[in-house]
Amino acid sequence: MEQYVPSGMGGTVNVVPPAIDPLAPKNMALSPDDAAYVCKQFGVDVDRPLMVQVSRFDPWKDPLGVIDAYRMAKEEVPEVQLALVGSMASDDPEGWDFYNATIAHAGGDPDIHILNNFNNVGSIEVNAFQSQADVVIQKSTREGFGLTVAEALWKGRPFIGGNVGGIPLQVKQGISGYLVDSVEECAARTVDVLRDPALGKALGKRGKEHVRRHFLTPRYLRDYLRIFGALLGVGPAAAAASDGAAAAARPTPTATPDPTT
Ligand code: UDP
Repeated sequence: MEQYVPSGMGGTVNVVPPAIDPLAPKNMALSPDDAAYVCKQFGVDVDRPLMVQVSRFDPWKDPLGVIDAYRMAKEEVPEVQLALVGSMASDDPEGWDFYNATIAHAGGDPDIHILNNFNNVGSIEVNAFQSQADVVIQKSTREGFGLTVAEALWKGRPFIGGNVGGIPLQVKQGISGYLVDSVEECAARTVDVLRDPALGKALGKRGKEHVRRHFLTPRYLRDYLRIFGALLGVGPAAAAASDGAAAAARPTPTATPDPTT
């Protein structure tokens, strides 16, 4: 992200956000039947609405806040369920403590499904839960890029996420999802989407298109071309990247096709 670039680096930094591979098992197209089949294996009632968060069990991912938001949403939409899907590192004792705290917070609610990679939850299962979700949540209070956000949007699901880190880069408020700052907002937006499937569908469609344009791996090719073009003094980025003496030292570019198109 631009804001992490230290001062004094003028003109020499290229910002290249991450991207997801649309053909990898985690992101390839799964049929609704296949997604439902996988989720059923984990006890989800696929005929009732489902909120999903896929994340490590970490305080900054705020799974406890997600449970609170689910509880508030459930007052309005009693049939809603929640799946918290998170991978665990066997050498991370704090992760296990937080995992146990999350289970305790769920208080034995049979509509809360807490799954981890030791329950055979791998890429296909993550894909299935993201594909099956009526709402995907990423209620982080701090976040890097947030690969799970691109993954959820790519599946065309309505998305609600914390307004932090790389999440706003991926989600335009009210257009391709919702950005929230509190449990209450998260719950209210969830209820909006669950009550209005057409709204959810429209958000999901725009979210998917945004990911298609900006956060799929072929975009790396455009980034490389842009960077090499700027270094060679050719292409559309050259004008933006060139400054004073550096530009003067380069040969004048001749007519060059636009590598980004
Ligand atoms: N992930 C997974 N299984 C899980 C939980 C997470 O495969 O049970 C993956 C998730 O799909 C994503 C990555 O782990 O690809 C997490 O990346 P992200 O940038 O969202 O968060 P980080 O964990 O790096 O803070």
